[in-house]
Amino acid sequence: MEIPFNRFYLTGKELEYVRQAQSLEHLCGDGPFSKKCASWLQEKTGCRKALIVPSCTAALEMAAMLLDIRPGDEVIMPSFTFVSTANAFVVRGGVPVFVDIRGDTLNLDESLVEAALTGRTRAIVPVHYAGVGCEMDALVALAAERDLPVIEDAAHGILASYKGRGLGSIGHLAGLSFHETKNVVSGEGGALLINDARFERRAEIIREKGTNRCEFLRGAVDRYTWVDIGSSYLPSEIVSAFLWAQLEQSEDITKRRLAIWRQYHAGLADLERQEKVRRPVVPEHCGANAHLYYLLLPDEARRESFIRALAERGVEASFHYVPLHSSPAGMRFGRAHGDLALTDEIAGRLVRLPLWTAMEPAAVDRVLQAVEEAVRAF
Ligand SMILES: *Cc1c(COP(=O)(O)O)cnc(C)c1O
Repeated sequence: MEIPFNRFYLTGKELEYVRQAQSLEHLCGDGPFSKKCASWLQEKTGCRKALIVPSCTAALEMAAMLLDIRPGDEVIMPSFTFVSTANAFVVRGGVPVFVDIRGDTLNLDESLVEAALTGRTRAIVPVHYAGVGCEMDALVALAAERDLPVIEDAAHGILASYKGRGLGSIGHLAGLSFHETKNVVSGEGGALLINDARFERRAEIIREKGTNRCEFLRGAVDRYTWVDIGSSYLPSEIVSAFLWAQLEQSEDITKRRLAIWRQYHAGLADLERQEKVRRPVVPEHCGANAHLYYLLLPDEARRESFIRALAERGVEASFHYVPLHSSPAGMRFGRAHGDLALTDEIAGRLVRLPLWTAMEPAAVDRVLQAVEEAVRAF
């Protein structure tokens, strides 16, 4: 394809920092680069504590361990999300309870959550789709009333905000992703953000294979030992060094992506006025990070022909998600709350346009041209 769907961005400093990590003779986890990344995330997101982990999936798995999710425990989440939101809890026997989304932001519909709560509900997991914040005030208030933790799936959310607060700093725990397809990348990568002090010590232990090695390294104990459940959730310094080169530049990365996003948004305003497509909605109180740009087409048949028409013009478009409640594992492990009509409908109509950090305005124009032509053919 002449215009691919995604192309990861390099700042140019990645290999230099990897070389530095090598010369510091500290390649396993929690070295200087990992610490730099963690403090940077604390400062920029406003979270209480950040731990660099191998992926957002790992961060969510750690959250499930920290909450002591047990077989049969229910976890509220949207069905319109990536599988890891659910899997992280399912591996511990948790039952995802899928709730429908809002028609504007495609985020969890906060007004439907209360009716989905049962005596077995153990957590609420909002997903900030496309880096646009969920209605956190309502979700946090409801959770507080029921004494439930809120776990933010902020995989898309780096440097985005809700009412001035960084995504990932609002719930009790949160996961960020640095997967190749996200705004800031280290190939595979992620962070666990902790905002509730009661999880801090245990999170370090779970991340260090169930040992109190962190306390040992701080000199708080004279040897380290196995104290709790845990796994291997420290990424190598090679990954963190690479990630540092990206985080350092991430405000610039966001700016560049926002410029592309705005070019799409302005260029598609007429088609929306003609009711040919619907553009993304970003509420006033949400600070976006241009993680992705999507359109809603009239129906699934026209989405198929639209993607084909774009491909014929050298433009690679894509879609997601297969709603989790209708996937084989989702049916086996989860439960739908209500009919999830909007989730089903939107998942069939959504198409994502190419958006990557180094995309030139001329390439965006070419996509816009292809979209015009494809839509005319409806
Ligand atoms: C990418 C993504 C994840 C998983 O992130 P990894 O870092 O690849 O594990 C989880 N949730 C959502 C919504 C995602 O888009």
